[in-house]
Amino acid sequence: MEVLKKRILEEGIVVSDQVLKLDALLNHQVDPELTMEMGREFARRFSDSGITRIVTVESSGIAVAFATALVMNVPLVFARRKKTLLADPDALCERVPSFTKGIVTDIMLSRQFVSPEDKILFIDDIIANGDAARGLIKIIQRSGAELVGLGVVVEKSFQAGARTIREQGIRLESLVRISSLNEGTVVFED
Ligand code: 5GP
Repeated sequence: MEVLKKRILEEGIVVSDQVLKLDALLNHQVDPELTMEMGREFARRFSDSGITRIVTVESSGIAVAFATALVMNVPLVFARRKKTLLADPDALCERVPSFTKGIVTDIMLSRQFVSPEDKILFIDDIIANGDAARGLIKIIQRSGAELVGLGVVVEKSFQAGARTIREQGIRLESLVRISSLNEGTVVFED
């Protein structure tokens, strides 16, 4: 997605060889028009798949997942990052390490909002090692719903997450693929 590459070059900050700060676009500020463009692109790529529900993990995936859900005219469910006192006792839970925070968090999805009849498109912001995505994939699989695919805004292809998920036979579509952040420079694939 060329417009997204341009915005990443203009507004992204390379923090290290591993981490790209995208607060201006994804993780703090949201540009509604650009986000709708992302949603339209995911909807286009998965248009023939009979998607009935979009799923994401709070918090940074929510805006683009919402945009995708709006275009596809289906509900959006976001997995919560930790259990609350109000949590559903039947909730599906997984413990996942957090790449940026260096801590472990629990993600949970209520069975109330996902059913075995669903065909799910999982939308996420950035994939690095894939721990967060693998956690939610396990939850979706345990729900009995069909996981049609995963749409990721930014794939850091020099880290293993996207590759290992594709090796599981899951369709993973990313809007941009970054092959390197070495020496403070963002290098895109293709
Ligand atoms: P993973 O579980 O794939 O290792 O990491 C996924 C999550 O960590 C993403 O949802 C994202 O919030 C965060 N993350 C991983 N790498 C980066 C990065 O380079 N920049 C930013 N801003 N977040 C990242």
